[in-house]
This record gives sequence, C-alpha cells and structure tokens, in this order.
Amino acid sequence: MTIPAAVRTARSRPLTFALGGLAAAALTMATACSTDSSSGKDDQATPSADTTQQSKQIKVVAAENFWGSIAEQIGGSHVTVTSIINNPDADPHDYEPTAADAREMATAQYAIVNGIGYDSWATKLVDANPAPGRTVLTVGDLVGIKDGGNPHRWYSPSDVHHVIEQITADYKKADPADAAYFDAQKTTFETQTLGEYNSLIADIKAKYAGTPIGASESIVSPLADGLGLKMLTPYSFLSAISEGSDPSAQDKATIDHQIATKQIKLYVYNSQNATPDVQEQVKAAKANGIEVATVTETLTPAGASFQQWQVAELKGLQQALAKATGK
Ligand SMILES: [Zn+2]
Repeated sequence: MTIPAAVRTARSRPLTFALGGLAAAALTMATACSTDSSSGKDDQATPSADTTQQSKQIKVVAAENFWGSIAEQIGGSHVTVTSIINNPDADPHDYEPTAADAREMATAQYAIVNGIGYDSWATKLVDANPAPGRTVLTVGDLVGIKDGGNPHRWYSPSDVHHVIEQITADYKKADPADAAYFDAQKTTFETQTLGEYNSLIADIKAKYAGTPIGASESIVSPLADGLGLKMLTPYSFLSAISEGSDPSAQDKATIDHQIATKQIKLYVYNSQNATPDVQEQVKAAKANGIEVATVTETLTPAGASFQQWQVAELKGLQQALAKATGK
C-alpha cells in the first residue's frame, strides 16, 4: 500500500545534494527539535519515540513532477514525494492513470494537482479515492485561473512563487511541530536554490522586454509574460497545439506571414510536442534567419530538478535573444 522503500530513496536522493551543508545541518537540528517537542520527555525511553518521528513525514503525491520537485525540495526530510508524471515521454494532457497511481492518491496526505482542465485524470483520482485528512492543492484554484484558461502555470514565475508559499503553509498545517523547519527550507529554496532562475528571469526581462516572439503552443505564454516578451502568435493557435486539436488555416496563415516578414525575432517551440505544423514553422523560421529556442512540457532530462530544467531553458532563450537582437 505504500511506495517501495527503494523508490522513495531513489526519489529523495537528489534532494540531499541540493540541500548543501548549511541546510543539512539545519535539518538535523530541526529533526532533533521536533522529536523533543512532539514526543515529550516521557517518551524518550520508549521505542515509540522513533515511530513518532518517522510518522512525521507527510506523504505527498503530485500529479506532475514539476510541482513534485518543488514540493520535495521545500519538504526536505519531513516529506516523501511521489510524482505520477515523471517521464519526459508522458504527456500530462492525455495521461491515462494506472491502478498504482490510484493507490498512491488513496494514501496521500497531501495531493498537488495542476487543475485548469490540464490533469482532470488527477482530480478524478482524488475524488475516486477519498482519504480522510488529505489536503488537496489545486494550483489553478490557488492562482485564480478557471478551466479553459492557460493551464501551464509552472511557466509563470509569479505563480511558481505563489505555489511555494502555499505548499509551505500547507506543510506547516499538516506538521505544526516542524513549522520552523519548513520556513527555513522555503527561504533556502527561494533565495538560494532558485537564485539563478530568479536572476535569469530578471536579466532577460531587463534586457529584452518588448521583443516580439512567436511560439508553438500556450506553454510559452506565461513565460513570455514573466519575461516581458511580446507574444505575436494568435492564442487560438497556441491553445490548439497544446490541446492536440487542429489549428485554423487562418491562424497558420497569420503565423506564416509573421515569419516571412520577420515580425518575430524568436520562435519558441515545445520539443515534446512538435506537430507537423510546428515543424513547418520551425523550418520556415530558420530559413528566414529567425532564432529558434525550445522548451519542454515536463522536467527534462528525467531526474532533473525544477530549477535545473528551467535554468537550462532560460539560458537557451537568453542566448537566442542575444543573437536575435544583437544586444
Ligand atoms: Zn501543455
């Protein structure tokens, strides 16, 4: 009924490296403190003290690994995190959950789903597997985007920070004895772990805000907003490609014209979802001397952390923008 220990260990191992010495020391201290405050001095001599401490790991299940990576790094040694979508080859948009996924969700104390129609399979799993005391974070509800809106909130830097705040608050509610630990983890994550992510976003925005770009799908829109880039591609096209429906001939003609007349300086596409239409646009952009950069839907390569993945993409965008603008 629980995840095999081997899986848990493998998933939590990269976190240890990410923590570094200081945080690891803080972690040890916090663990010691929480044992004291939760079990009381009478428990000290009994074997149950250990059990009490072990049970203070919140079992977290994230529908997708971009949220799971963040949840894992904030929760540190006081959570175990399983991400259902953890493979770059799996598309969250049309994922078919397995019986094992259902069991994970049924035993989760904290579930993170994206919402906004992106992972309705995950919401269904939550609803079909009631668990008393489980808290569910639906990112779309948190950031106020309704079904039909752009679901790719992990590409919105401000929404990412919003989610970090909420996860921390929810951890503190689930495990009040370790509140100080979670606060320290959050601070380390936001200021140090995400340091390069934050500064790349600020640098790109400062230097390239207002640069007109085109894209293959709506995954790029929240990032373009966060970076201050001007998205010229019709949203109906971006949304159609994201949702796997046919884009209109009119939208395709508009994009062809934007590329042919070099109205866009950069074309960004999701390499995990390069449909024939997108491939045509990439080809046309390159033929017209327009810079091309890529993003992916989920953590790439498999096993990368949220920040490793995002930083690599942001650096790619920065280089392409430098070439495209000569700045
Ligand atoms: Zn998508």
